[in-house]
Amino acid sequence: MALSASDSRRYVPGDLGALAARVQGTILFPDDPAYDEARQVNNAAIDRRPVAIVRAAGADDVVATVAVAREAGVPLAVRSGGHSVAGHGTVDDGILLDLAGLAGIEIDGAARVAWAGAGTKAGAYVAATAAHGLATPLGDSAAVGLGGLTLGGGIGWLARKHGLTIDNLLAAEVVTADGQLVRASERENPDLFWALRGGGGNFGIATRFQFRLHPLGTVLGGALVMPLTRDVLRAHGSIAGSAPDELTTIAVAMAGLPPMPFVPADQHGRPGFAVMLVHAGDLDAGRAAIAPYRAVATPLADAVAPMPYPAMYRLTEAAAERGRSAHGTTFLPALDDRAVDAILDALSRPTSPMAMVQLRVLGGEVGRVAPADTAFAFRDRPVMVVIIVPYLDPAEAGRHQEWAGGLLASLRDAGASGAYVNFVGDEGPDGVREAYPGGTFDRLALVKRRWDPANLFRLNQNVPPMA
Ligand SMILES: Cc1cc2nc3c(=O)[nH]c(=O)nc-3n(C[C@H](O)[C@H](O)[C@H](O)COP(=O)(O)OP(=O)(O)OC[C@H]3O[C@@H](n4cnc5c(N)ncnc54)[C@H](O)[C@@H]3O)c2cc1C
Repeated sequence: MALSASDSRRYVPGDLGALAARVQGTILFPDDPAYDEARQVNNAAIDRRPVAIVRAAGADDVVATVAVAREAGVPLAVRSGGHSVAGHGTVDDGILLDLAGLAGIEIDGAARVAWAGAGTKAGAYVAATAAHGLATPLGDSAAVGLGGLTLGGGIGWLARKHGLTIDNLLAAEVVTADGQLVRASERENPDLFWALRGGGGNFGIATRFQFRLHPLGTVLGGALVMPLTRDVLRAHGSIAGSAPDELTTIAVAMAGLPPMPFVPADQHGRPGFAVMLVHAGDLDAGRAAIAPYRAVATPLADAVAPMPYPAMYRLTEAAAERGRSAHGTTFLPALDDRAVDAILDALSRPTSPMAMVQLRVLGGEVGRVAPADTAFAFRDRPVMVVIIVPYLDPAEAGRHQEWAGGLLASLRDAGASGAYVNFVGDEGPDGVREAYPGGTFDRLALVKRRWDPANLFRLNQNVPPMA
């Protein structure tokens, strides 16, 4: 083994010769012209310099890279789509294993299952399965990777109708800390399978996933842009929460509406509440399900129409572009006056004109899975909140995070608790504890002790192995 030093800071590229000999894919070092772009992640506030970037060509490369990192004691970061808000998809002075090349999709339309490489982007999977008139519930953005999305839970446009991504995960192939390629499912390594469904990248490196597919063709989709008022926000919780399961909304309270083509020009930059939605069912039933919004207030814009399901992903393309942002996330027991007032108050004095608060009304299939059945325990929470503050000037990072933190604290005062691991920032052990309530955390720590006792996979929302 050419890697002899245990301090990765002493490495020079030549020391990584062992890696080059064992990996079929590409390895980029800091002097490579492609290195600077390759080390970037979606959250532009994160700026780290790996000693080497391994672009895996297949599962064997994952096995080889795990072996080199483990034997040499080099920190190992794992990336599928690079959208970790905490920036866990890169590392200073360690090896970055980039799985974007593991992007094959095999669809068995008759059996309604698909295998997909962990580096597949959500948009590619949605397009490939839609060609068969089928879909698996993923998130709201095409550029997000299946690896991180799935392992954290996966909450998107079909959540109320078909559950989370993990509720449709049938099996995963995983490279473990000791370099084995194993399969996890209800029957094979069920403890690992339980932990993979919400426990993040703690337990191994997923190379492929097998998902269940559901028939899906044209949906009623798009966005209703409503005035940002107390009445509208209050009504949103009950309208979206009592709607048929076919309707899933991802609504965004915004300090300033973006200049999207369907938003009237005189509303650009003004506060608004965009109720993005998918109704996966009869079109008239969908129109009826969203009619109550129009009874609360006249929409500022109505961009709801029948569309092929993949078209929904165009709506979020701009928001998913690389940029700097501060975050916060929690779950609300209700969208009541206290919570609504906290949100409206914060948005009336934003630190960024682009500040926004996503209100995702859950329920439906999400709530029909028992909290202990997967590592995503927040099954009974009616509303997920995601605070996002995009900003431009790196010098202002602190004040935007302070604003997000202030709103989060107000929401906690209003009864909010817990956090969705896939939107937790770099908050250390406290953030991880928020994402995994006691029983879940302890069970994850036990599984971790079996599958990664030395905590090789620690550059993530880390659950250390139980002592
Ligand atoms: C613009 C945007 C929109 C989003 N929308 C949604 C949404 O609608 N619904 C939702 O649920 N989430 C959403 N998210 C959150 C997203 O699911 C997480 O950030 C997720 O971790 C991103 O996955 P990735 O593979 O792109 O990220 P990466 O940064 O590549 O991975 C994140 C972390 O996951 C782990 N990981 C990734 N791949 C693997 C693997 N193959 N094996 C083991 N560990 C792995 C690693 O710890 C890695 O550091 C969104 C995030 C952004 C930035």
